[in-house]
Amino acid sequence: MDYIVCFDIGGTFIKFGLLDRNGKMIFKDKAMTPKSNLQKSLPEFLVKRVKLLQNDFQIVGIGISSCGLINHERGEVLFSNNLPGYSGMKLAEILFNQLQLPVSVENDVKSACLGEMWKGAIQGKRNVVFLTLGTGIGSTIVIDGKIVNGSHHLAGELGHTVIVSEGRPCGCGRKGCYERYAATSALVNDFIEEKKKHGEVVERISGEEIFKLVTEEDPIALSVYKKFIRFISIGLTNVVHLLNPEAIIIGGGITEHADQFIQDINIELKKEIMPIYNQGNIVYPSHLGNDAGLYGACYILLKKLNKLQV
Ligand SMILES: [Zn+2]
Repeated sequence: MDYIVCFDIGGTFIKFGLLDRNGKMIFKDKAMTPKSNLQKSLPEFLVKRVKLLQNDFQIVGIGISSCGLINHERGEVLFSNNLPGYSGMKLAEILFNQLQLPVSVENDVKSACLGEMWKGAIQGKRNVVFLTLGTGIGSTIVIDGKIVNGSHHLAGELGHTVIVSEGRPCGCGRKGCYERYAATSALVNDFIEEKKKHGEVVERISGEEIFKLVTEEDPIALSVYKKFIRFISIGLTNVVHLLNPEAIIIGGGITEHADQFIQDINIELKKEIMPIYNQGNIVYPSHLGNDAGLYGACYILLKKLNKLQV
């Protein structure tokens, strides 16, 4: 049997897994991303893992899902703002030179989207938009089964489309970007602000904890949550009208065990979109959660090898 070693390289953790050519995950694990001397320590880490697995398994390739801006054709990291020393790393070349195995490298949000399309929430669908809600919003567009890359691998940045004119300042330098209203961080900040107005100091709270307060009908949590759903839906209405996708998948920690949240977005979205676009539920939660990137990395590598069995 052929096996693929997959890595999901993030700012905090490197997740890795062994998958067979049918996309069955044999095992998975994670380690802290090396912080010092990344240019040497990261390839060393990856090569060591692969070599250990080669003792017991027939490895036919390496699939990498990575944070940052990636040139997937060259397997190169174009830019990363959360891992010093990572920008410019020729990952595929370095690994190929040391292991003589085919390597694929793709951005983590794009990988996760393909993973969900292959083994997760939306199998069989070909027109999909994928979003992850977190500190910001990551997003990817798939049309006719293919990732939309744009002319310089920059397409699909839904998070930096403006939904409020002269709105909240964004890290990108503009004002009123979607992610300043619809990312998990916006929900958390709004809740803390609203509590402050009511004379209560909340130092830290997670999106999941706010969702719990919503189910307990906490009035401040409820009002902030309703605004959050509204903002998410305004952005998604633009997506629906622009691209007419079969599905929009929402990932990120906040969507785990949050069926009501996804349902509330679907309800609000249906109120917003033109009736002709209303073909049943459009928004789905991620099914693979944190593993989506590993499945997607495997899919991309198998596709590269023409070994995809679907
Ligand atoms: Zn922005």
